[in-house]
Amino acid sequence: MSVELDLSRKPAVAGPANLAGLGREGLRLAMIAAGVEEKKARMRASQLWRWIYHYGVTDFSKMTDVAKELRALLAGKFVLERPDIQAAQTSVDGTRKWLIGYGAPNTPGVEAECVYIPDVGKAGALCVSSQVGCTLTCTFCHTGTQKLVRNLTAAEIVNQVMVARDALEEWPTAEKPLNLGDRLLTNIVFMGMGEPLYNLDNVVEALETIGDGDGISISKRRITVSTAGVAPKIPELGQRTGAMLAISLHATNDDLRNELVPLNRKYNLKELFDAIRQYPDLSNSRRVTFEYVMLKGVNDTPAEARDLVRLMKHVPAKINLIPFNPWPGTTYECSDWETIEAFAEILNRAGYASPIRTPRGRDILAACGQLRSESVKEKASERLKKRLAEKGADRV
Ligand code: SAH
Repeated sequence: MSVELDLSRKPAVAGPANLAGLGREGLRLAMIAAGVEEKKARMRASQLWRWIYHYGVTDFSKMTDVAKELRALLAGKFVLERPDIQAAQTSVDGTRKWLIGYGAPNTPGVEAECVYIPDVGKAGALCVSSQVGCTLTCTFCHTGTQKLVRNLTAAEIVNQVMVARDALEEWPTAEKPLNLGDRLLTNIVFMGMGEPLYNLDNVVEALETIGDGDGISISKRRITVSTAGVAPKIPELGQRTGAMLAISLHATNDDLRNELVPLNRKYNLKELFDAIRQYPDLSNSRRVTFEYVMLKGVNDTPAEARDLVRLMKHVPAKINLIPFNPWPGTTYECSDWETIEAFAEILNRAGYASPIRTPRGRDILAACGQLRSESVKEKASERLKKRLAEKGADRV
């Protein structure tokens, strides 16, 4: 994989490039750009890596084992910045949500959300976004009502994790080394805004950084990537990352799935399941998670539960039943509790673990499918107009 020094996060107003979020190769290239001898660049990058991703420092002067001259050189050329947090909310149940701005500083327009959910996974999970907006238009999903603005870069994805680590005060220090067992953030789920498999290169690079044992160190087995079913990319995700796979299924026949998840018209259930069966290393200890949103009168009959069992035959699987989370303007309703329990019971009897996911963070619109930012895709002509106006302003 070729990695270039990614300067796309540079603020529109020219400023130094941000090193926080870069992968190992990106950091190595940055060292060379700073004037470090090529043969020493990898070693210097490793030193920085530990400071950036293990200790979470945002200040070069804290890097005590890096020579003073190099620290000064780096501080003159680069920054170690966190993204622009435009809003932070905490739910009554402890779920936390951050709205992060990815545009030029202090300008609304390009935003994505990430959500920390305590008591999920080993200790707590961070739900990260891979895109601003989404192309998929799943009819029950709030994010689906928002156009795709752009893919997030690998660094922007990694920075969501760094924001959560900051807020949870989880960076170890020399005085306070953090035992793995004390961590609050142990799992990552790519279940925020966007379709990760439509931004696979960046997701792969972000996973490498997040999973690196010398830094943030969240193992691949605790990272789950969820897809609405981009079939041709599913085996590739496994081969390139070793992450756990989740599939947003939601329907057991093509007619209904075409309606709920329009991507199904491109890759139908047969193609989807063929791809899932090719996911590497599936076993009883590495199961695929099927997500199934419970929509009243739409997909919640006992017959559909039995169809689901039939579909999953020969796939090591578990099922997450998600009570539908309402959002402003939706016409769907959540299935009744008894209906959900009866559905779960059929799956359980067939031998599948099928926990009903307790909705978390509904009061701050942080639950599954409720994420939506006000980001809008600007037309190229509007962008051009703005740029020209800015140029005009420069001349004044
Ligand atoms: N595009 C990827 C990643 C998003 S994951 C995917 O589709 O898998 C977000 C999960 O929340 C998906 O399973 C999605 O189907 C589910 N979801 C979307 N809207 C929802 C809602 N209103 N209530 C409950 N779950 C929802």
